[in-house]
Parts: sequence; structure tokens; C-alpha cells
Amino acid sequence: MSFIIKCLDCGHNAPYYPTSTTCPKCNSQWREAEYDYELIGKSLPVKLAGRPFDLWRYRELLPVRNPNVSLSLGEGGTPLIRAVNLGMMLGCPNIYIKDERQGPTSSFKDRQASVTIAALKEAGITEMVAASTGNVAISYSAYASRAGMKLWAFVTSLVPATKMREIALYGSQVIKITGSYDQCKQVASEFARQRHLYQDMGARTITSIEAMKTIAFEIAEQLTAIQGTDGAAPWRTPDWYVQAISGGMGPLGVYKGFREMKDMGWVNRIPAFAPIQAEGCAPMVDSWKKGLEKAEPVTSPKTRIETLATGDPGRAYEFLRAYVNSTNGAFESVSDEDAYRAMHVLAKMEGISAEPAAAVAFAGLFKLIRAGVIKPSDTVVVNCTGHTMPAEPIILGENWSRDVKLPTSKETPQEGLLSALTQVAPERFPKIAIVEDTAEARRLIRRILQSQGNFTILEASNGREGLELIQRELPDLIILDLMMPEMDGFTVIEALRAKQETATIPVIVATAKELTPDEKNRLSGQIQSLMQKGDFLNDEFLEEVKTLIK
Ligand SMILES: *Cc1c(COP(=O)(O)O)cnc(C)c1O
Ligand SMILES: [Zn+2]
Repeated sequence: MSFIIKCLDCGHNAPYYPTSTTCPKCNSQWREAEYDYELIGKSLPVKLAGRPFDLWRYRELLPVRNPNVSLSLGEGGTPLIRAVNLGMMLGCPNIYIKDERQGPTSSFKDRQASVTIAALKEAGITEMVAASTGNVAISYSAYASRAGMKLWAFVTSLVPATKMREIALYGSQVIKITGSYDQCKQVASEFARQRHLYQDMGARTITSIEAMKTIAFEIAEQLTAIQGTDGAAPWRTPDWYVQAISGGMGPLGVYKGFREMKDMGWVNRIPAFAPIQAEGCAPMVDSWKKGLEKAEPVTSPKTRIETLATGDPGRAYEFLRAYVNSTNGAFESVSDEDAYRAMHVLAKMEGISAEPAAAVAFAGLFKLIRAGVIKPSDTVVVNCTGHTMPAEPIILGENWSRDVKLPTSKETPQEGLLSALTQVAPERFPKIAIVEDTAEARRLIRRILQSQGNFTILEASNGREGLELIQRELPDLIILDLMMPEMDGFTVIEALRAKQETATIPVIVATAKELTPDEKNRLSGQIQSLMQKGDFLNDEFLEEVKTLIK
């Protein structure tokens, strides 16, 4: 698959690496993927008929070189449901609900997470940082667990505890910040910078925008199946796309999807966009209504719907404003009470239980129909963005989150942020070396360790490499396989014990092998613990690790 990354500011083209997040020429962080539309426009429609209805059916238009089916949780391919009762009630019969609650973690963030994690995994990244109002962290955590990747999830303390527990349930480290979401993002990015970790860039993440555009592709395919082609092009578009927004990633991606389809001649127009915000945090709506070209940030959001609490949308507003204006769309805001009412109406009339953030879109729909902006004859698609579920508190035990209390004094906010980070994690984590020749087994051990504590994990794929790694890094603990090419585990142990610096490093031998009495003798007194490979899932393994590291 071939694609390039084009800078939206200077037009410079560069190859794609997930870790290079700025334009090499002008340093802009606003860039997007470009494909061979001429070729794909002709070849892809023919292939679609034979593919499952999920996000990867459009893989030629996604920035992942080799889609990794083993990461998939069945993302994308959500139903488009006609809202017959709402339509009757509102006198607007063609309302359709794109039901993104039906993603693997119950929100449309699953598209973004599945494509982004696939690209990061392809680039060999095993640890990342993300700031989130909840759902991004839930979804990234689910995919990170499959990919063997550690996620540091920075969330504001306003995120409901049930959502935080779900993040922790997947094995991510939750960092709770007592501050606004914009502050939470600053702390996360400082943390990532200090530790040289990959950090999610929100709406500037190329893979995330690309993932969101599949919503547009699916809507066009599904609407065509229901209403037939619109004559001028093979696929049909609705008149409106309505979505509740926070940072605006969804509509930025969905717009790109419609634009690409139009460029390829699949559809003949782009729908009008209606991004909806909660009144207590509506910087984009307010700025648009004032006719501003740049958004005025909201410094202290006043909405209980924390999922939508981006106070400073930055340049996302400028792009979205252009899309809304060019499609004759409209920004609108609604009160929290309107959203709760819409949530109840949606459940009672259509059997769809959405979270308050998703209900904001429906409250916006009601308002725009009442105002005559959306006409009775229009076909409208509303994105029902999510309904994430609470996780069971009991099974997580204590200590599943760390709390960072930002100082309340206004004088040195920047210093406060930085010193707050020392509460999150020490300078250095215990080092654990995994010496194991099977990649899958290494990934499994890494994942078990990552999901239950904070360690620096080093890996080697045979005995000789392992010995060099241990002598160089002097880890706090070694997890060692016995049967390996180049040098077996027995020899590694003998070499370690023979040298003073490595003689006392604790070793856990992890083996699938039945040991002979003679082999047991060779290990006796030389290692701290012997695990059969199936034992890894037991808590004892982690208990053992934690005891040995002290
Ligand atoms: C993230 C989220 C939104 C806002 O999406 P953006 O397009 O990123 O602004 C809306 N609803 C739900 C349920 C979300 O998880
Ligand atoms: Zn540039």
C-alpha cells in the first residue's frame, strides 16, 4: 500500500513514520495522508463485495502497511439504524443513527484506537502516553493489551470512576489529574517528553483521522443499500452529518472520508456538517457564532459531560469551521439538561441507551430541526458516539490509579505541573530482562509485567544476546528460558554466577520443559524460582517478581 504524508501548511510531502509528528520542512503538526486516488478509486469498489463489513474493508485507504488481523476486535461496520419513531415525532422522517456504541469498547474511539495501535505496533512501539476524557483511554487500553503495549492513561479526576476502572481493567496505568482536560494534556505531554515515550497527538494523529473517515465510507455504502444510488454517482450521501464534539477529531476525519469519495467519483457531494457542543464548554460553537477565525478557549469548562470538555480546540477549529462553512452546515450547543432529556427520549423512543456525550448530538438535532436549519425532507445521519460501560470495582483491588494534585495557587502553574509529575513515577523503574527465544512468549511475559506494575523491560532472543544484555544493563531481575539457540539457559546461569557483578541478580527460570533430575541439580541453589510456562497466569508469578525485586 502506498501513501504519503502531506503537510497542510506548506504542502511538503514526506514518508510516514508514526513517531515523526511534524513536517520536516516547516515543523507543522497538521498533516494528512494522501493515497493514489486515481488507482484506488477504480480498483477498490470491485474488491469490497468480497470483504467483511468492518473498518479494514477500506484498508487500501488506511495508513497501515500490513493490517494485522490478530489485533482486530471487530472494529467498524456498525449498523445504520433508521429512527422511525424519532422521525415521526420530529416531522423529519429520514433520520438515521450510526450506532457507534456497537464498537468493541462501546464508543467510536475504537476506530481510532484500532488503526493507531496497528500502526504503532508495526513501528515497533511498546509503550505510549495518552491524555483522555475517558473513552480514548478505554479503547486504546483494549487494543494496547492485544498488541503487548503499555499505556499511560492521563485522565482528569472528573472522569467517572467507572470509566477509570475500565481503563485499569485492561492493564493500563491510570494517572488521575485534578485539573482541566487541557492541563491534563500538558502534564501528559511533559511526562512523555521526559521519558521519550510516544504520545498520542489527539486530532493531529494521522492514523486517527484516517480511521474516523471510515465512518463516512460506511454511511455512504449503507445509505445506498437503503435508499438506492442517487443517480449522479454510485453511492449516496446524507444531507447532514450530526455529531457531538470535544476536540473535533470525528468530524475532521469524517469530512476527509466524504472528500476522498467525492474526489474518486464515488459520491457527488459532501453532506452539511453539524458539530454539537455542550454549552458549558462550547469554544468552537461560540467562536463560530461570533464569526471568529480562531477559537477563543474556554479556560474553566462548566459541563458535567466531561467527555466533551476540550476547552482549547486549537487549530482543529479552523479546519472544522472551513468544513462547516463550505458545506452550509452549522455549529450548535445544548445545555446538559437538554442532553439528559434527549438521552431519555432516545432510549424511550428508539431503544437506544447512549451516554450523555452522545446524547448531546441528539439534543443538537432536535434544536436544529426546531430552528428550521435542518428541513423535514432532509436525510440526516446522527453519530451515536458511545455508551461505555462501568467495570466491576472489586476485581481491581486497591491502587489502580495514581493521583496528581495540581497546586491551586495561580502563581507558578508551570512549575506545579512539572513537580506534579514526580508524584506519578520515580526516575527509574526496576529493570527486568526477559531472555526467551520465542517472540510470542516474550510478548506474553512483557504484557503480564506491563499490565500489573511499572517496570523497564529489556528483551533478548537467545542466551548469548541475553548474557550481553545482562552484563551491560545489570537488571534487577532476570526471567530466563532454558532451551534457546546459541547458548542455553543453563550456560547463561553459570556465566552469570561466575562474575561478581551478576552473581546475585535474581533469576526466574520460565520453561516449558520437563526437567530431568540432573538438570534440576544443575539449577539448584543457582536460581530463585522455577516456573512452568502455564503458571504465568497465576498471581504467584507477579508476587514472585515483586518479592524478588525488593
Ligand atoms: C470522544 C467522544 C466524543 C467527541 O469526539 P471528537 O470528535 O473527538 O470531538 C463524543 N462522544 C463520545 C461518546 C466520545 O467518546
Ligand atoms: Zn510543512
